[in-house]
Amino acid sequence: WFMGYRNESTAAASDSASQAPPPVEKFEYQAEVSRLLDLIVNSLYSNKEVFLRELISNASDALDKLRYLSVTDPELSKDAADLDIRIYADKENGVITLTDSGIGMTRQELVDCLGTIAQSGTAKFLKALKDNKDAGGDNNLIGQFGVGFYSAFLVADRVTVSTKSPKSDKQYVWESEADSSSYTVKEETDPQLIIPRGTRITLHLKRDDKGFADPERIQKLVKNYSQFVSFPIYTWQEKG
Ligand code: ADP
Ligand code: MG
Repeated sequence: WFMGYRNESTAAASDSASQAPPPVEKFEYQAEVSRLLDLIVNSLYSNKEVFLRELISNASDALDKLRYLSVTDPELSKDAADLDIRIYADKENGVITLTDSGIGMTRQELVDCLGTIAQSGTAKFLKALKDNKDAGGDNNLIGQFGVGFYSAFLVADRVTVSTKSPKSDKQYVWESEADSSSYTVKEETDPQLIIPRGTRITLHLKRDDKGFADPERIQKLVKNYSQFVSFPIYTWQEKG
């Protein structure tokens, strides 16, 4: 009976812990990011599919980083052996999910990487835009410089990034709407969404861009971009 008693009390304790709503923290974007997002959302840039190239290239960078660091620290890759990229197209709901088993991000890295502009390409883009006073100038500049992660907002009105770094014992979720000046970060609590390591990006596509959630279209685009990626890229869909 002693064991039973103990189990009951630990169950009660963990129950109340899991019932407490996880704190959701709100952050304002750095001014440059807000400006960039504004441009991305309002631009008439027609080559929107570059979002996939940018996200695949980030996934590939994250996998490269993990592979490189694992040489001296094999512990880093112990939680998931496969290094790959998986893209899931949910046609019915207009949602694309891109998962990599790369290095992931800690909570601090989420805030540092997806709330500010660290990236040289994006900084160059903003500089070029400043130099180019022509209001319509962003049309070519987006493609020329690339706008990195934020290009997700070319096609999505809401983006969720759930990520687990081997340096952290917790998985965190970053979320933002395309027309927002802020984003939120909270702990991932959905057991179905817990990953051993890496990053899962969910794009809730804009009404006019739901057509991108088509496995055949994704596959075609992947074929164009994957020649520079040294990790397998799998695309799949729910069986119809
Ligand atoms: P860049 O790739 O040129 O650094 P991005 O805007 O594409 O710029 O990405 C910004 C940063 O966000 C990356 O440098 C990286 O630190 C982080 N990041 C983005 N995607 C991922 C990912 N899938 N896994 C881990 N970190 C990522
Ligand atoms: Mg990038």
